[in-house]
Amino acid sequence: MTTLYLTNKMSAPEMRLTADLAAQAGAQGLELLAKAGNRGRAYRNVARDIQRAITRKSSVPEPYLVAIPITTGSGEQCHVEHPVLLPHELLEYLLSSGTARLEDLVDLESRVDQTLHKRHREFCRQHNLDARNVVALGFHGDGVPYRKATHKQASTEVLSWNLLCDLDGKRYLFADIHHEFLCTCGCRGRHTFDALLEVFAWSMVVLLGGHHPDTRHDRGPLDAPRAGKAGQPLGFQGVLLQARGDWAWFNQVFSFPNWNAKALCWRCRATQEGPLAYTKCGLLAAWRNTRYKPGEYLRQQVRENSNPSPLFACPGFTVEQVSIGALRCMDLGVTQDILGNILWEALHELGLPGRSAKERCKTLAVKLQHYYQQQAQAAGHPTNTSKLQDLTLTMIRKDYKSYPKLKAKGAETRALVLFGVALAQELHARHHSGHTRMVTEVVQDLHEIYEVMCRSFDAGRLATLSTQVADKFSKLEAEARRDGKLAWKVKPKLHMMQELLEYQSHELGNPRGYWEYRDEDFVGLVSRLAARKGGPATPKACARGVLQRYRALLGVGDI
Ligand SMILES: [Zn+2]
Ligand SMILES: [Zn+2]
Repeated sequence: MTTLYLTNKMSAPEMRLTADLAAQAGAQGLELLAKAGNRGRAYRNVARDIQRAITRKSSVPEPYLVAIPITTGSGEQCHVEHPVLLPHELLEYLLSSGTARLEDLVDLESRVDQTLHKRHREFCRQHNLDARNVVALGFHGDGVPYRKATHKQASTEVLSWNLLCDLDGKRYLFADIHHEFLCTCGCRGRHTFDALLEVFAWSMVVLLGGHHPDTRHDRGPLDAPRAGKAGQPLGFQGVLLQARGDWAWFNQVFSFPNWNAKALCWRCRATQEGPLAYTKCGLLAAWRNTRYKPGEYLRQQVRENSNPSPLFACPGFTVEQVSIGALRCMDLGVTQDILGNILWEALHELGLPGRSAKERCKTLAVKLQHYYQQQAQAAGHPTNTSKLQDLTLTMIRKDYKSYPKLKAKGAETRALVLFGVALAQELHARHHSGHTRMVTEVVQDLHEIYEVMCRSFDAGRLATLSTQVADKFSKLEAEARRDGKLAWKVKPKLHMMQELLEYQSHELGNPRGYWEYRDEDFVGLVSRLAARKGGPATPKACARGVLQRYRALLGVGDI
């Protein structure tokens, strides 16, 4: 019930009434909730009293206030105090409340397909730390839509961290700020993010030291409860070893190049066109010889008067640890491009019944449902894969001016790769052309990439498959262009796939270990916490509402 209320699925008066009825029926411990707002008579106080009742016994750390630059509703620039939850304090809470045990948090052995263990050991060696005392953390940032009181859609920026000891580990909230409040001086929100990330980096410095700080992050005096703890040992240390996010977010917060920038990559000097063009994908591509050395990209940012993000002030944290996620660059990128093209070719070249593409698409949709049934039969049980309920023409190609690209969710897309293989094989059996052979090979290699990630990780094999997919994809593009067809468009995400599968998986390990599915779940939860029914929409009030609900959920162990 508390969870339903806190995630905005139940209103405060509904929550009070339910608690009241349950208490009358003999349920224990609900009296405070039932009494909220003078038993519902003082309607305006119900939500406040419920919030107090829920957080009353919570020992979840209090938010820490940070001055951040924002833009107000009237477009004015000013500094306001914004609440965040300090990672070192939240970690101390998790350990002291018995929610987690230190020996589990420092154990990275289970992450066998990652290089985390090695990097953790290396960091501890450099800083002369006992590895049995050092917790490895990851960071994630993303913008997510939420529903405003006016029922308009807006987006909120969610900054969170997680414990790297566990692949599917929980995410913990650091800060949340609505997109509309970000600084608009021309920095595209960097000033606001920087102020928040400076505090995150300070918390990581505190974690390295292993003691409660004796001043604030800006050297100012601490509030009384925190001053009381100054200098006390935390009982553990920590290090940030990973950051995840999508390309747009890296661009906004780290000022990494955008996908449409002339030089589009932060790991090499690949460009849109010319001798270093990313569209040349083979083993001899020139961009492969222009990789940035450790620290080089940030030095270049300084030379070009673009400040590196304060996140890089976290001890031991480098550009190499900013990970490219397979969900965004493959599932919602290259894989959708490949499947979109195959589905489009199937509609036109497979001899499906139906006079128009729309009619043939209905046949294809039936074929798809058969495929799902076969999958379930082969597995011997109903599969829990994400299925597309329908397949329409616009899901395959938006309009005749755009290139084919499947429109679906990430998990739905991945579950369709084998269907793509089956269609490509049927097309090849029918036409036996060089083109159909190449298409079949591309999608078979793509399928094997997922197999290697999900079943038997092998960085060398992943790299070989990636080069093959990218190289053939670019050949299919050249062929389509020659034939005057809008198809097989090579996009910058293909380069990110190559960076991920041909370089990053050697450095960081199996991409499955840092893809963003769990992060998506967490930002989804925060988006529900952020949904507002009314009240003042100041940045502090919005963030405080989210943080209080989040703290309450954490306090009842429901998150
Ligand atoms: Zn600014
Ligand atoms: Zn690159």
